[in-house]
Amino acid sequence: MQKTIGYAAHNNNSPLAPFNFERRDPLPTDVQIEILFCGVCHSDIHQVRNEWGNATFPMVPGHEIVGKVTKVGSEVSNFKPGESVGVGCLVDSCRVCPDCHDHLEQFCNNAEFTYNSPDKHTGGTNYGGYSRQIVVDQDFVLHVSDKLDLAAVAPLLCAGITTYSPLKHWKVGKGDKVGIVGLGGLGHMGIKFAHAFGAHVVLFTTSPGKAEDAKRLGADEVVISKNPEEMEKHLASFDFILNTVAAPHNLDAYTALLKRDGTLCLVGLPDRPHPSPSIANLIFKRRRVVGSLIGGLKETQEMLDFCAENAITSDIEIIPIQQINEAYERVLKSDVKYRFVIDLASLQQQEG
Ligand code: NAP
Ligand code: ZN
Ligand code: ZN
Repeated sequence: MQKTIGYAAHNNNSPLAPFNFERRDPLPTDVQIEILFCGVCHSDIHQVRNEWGNATFPMVPGHEIVGKVTKVGSEVSNFKPGESVGVGCLVDSCRVCPDCHDHLEQFCNNAEFTYNSPDKHTGGTNYGGYSRQIVVDQDFVLHVSDKLDLAAVAPLLCAGITTYSPLKHWKVGKGDKVGIVGLGGLGHMGIKFAHAFGAHVVLFTTSPGKAEDAKRLGADEVVISKNPEEMEKHLASFDFILNTVAAPHNLDAYTALLKRDGTLCLVGLPDRPHPSPSIANLIFKRRRVVGSLIGGLKETQEMLDFCAENAITSDIEIIPIQQINEAYERVLKSDVKYRFVIDLASLQQQEG
């Protein structure tokens, strides 16, 4: 085992604080990574506050990880020291079930998540990316292009794949009218991808001050969702709506905007359920409400390659780790443009 340092939550209501812990020594199939940047996902906040009811403490959050390979195990041929790599929400899975076979490891019943999840190698708990280094099996490490700004790549590992995957799965493209609900970490990537795939993109926001940014990011129209008249203009006109909101709200406002056979896809996972949607809204136009979870490793690599080819990254605010608790408060107020990314070099101050 090797000593390292990170920031951890010790229970569900105290601030994150410096935390010394150990990582396993690299096994023959492992890659050891010095973490340079880690994005701050709203899921980190849900989990450290135990809003999903499955928290184990101490918890080192962080699943939008970018860094450099420092060491590889004897059986690793795909990665070399010095290379830029990424790690997302997954660090292992069973490899043999139908979901793993179909490259959809996120749905594997034995998927191992990057933090707040048991580590089958040590019998302990996985610790995430708000830390100096991480050791991950080679099959769960991703190649990252040095053509892109590495700090701005970090959020692609969760916010990127979580929006890319459903847009691809439900075949969003040219000629489609697509809604993105909420302009936060996921929402701003949703706009970028839907625009890149050639769709007509409409952002739904509760924050009028974000309208100009939304257009710059690729939205063709912006609707203030609190304004019923603005919403009504779009009744029964959408092919697909991707809803990224992290709080319970009335979904009927969005199902009513779908065309016949249109799809409302939920990716936000609030702490309490949404009010149940109107069944009549669904059956009279054969509309669907669906969900989607991050993406498998193969698709995550495809998304990273697509971003490198098309110069797509996240719009970020870089923070030292010492500001993580203030950053959480700002995310909760929908006040981030549009993802916080931790510069892990700031942990050196902690060590020194
Ligand atoms: P975020 O940066 O906080 O963005 C959420 C946005 O939702 C806010 O910026 C805000 O946008 C809007 N919003 C917030 N509260 C609202 C309310 N009460 N009513 C209406 N709109 C509201 O969060 P994120 O990191 O993008 O994550 C969003 C959600 O997705 C979280 O629940 C997270 O856990 C979940 N998530 C799911 C997956 C998955 O695989 N399914 C992966 C990652 C994250 P406006 O200011 O524009 O209204
Ligand atoms: Zn996330
Ligand atoms: Zn499996």
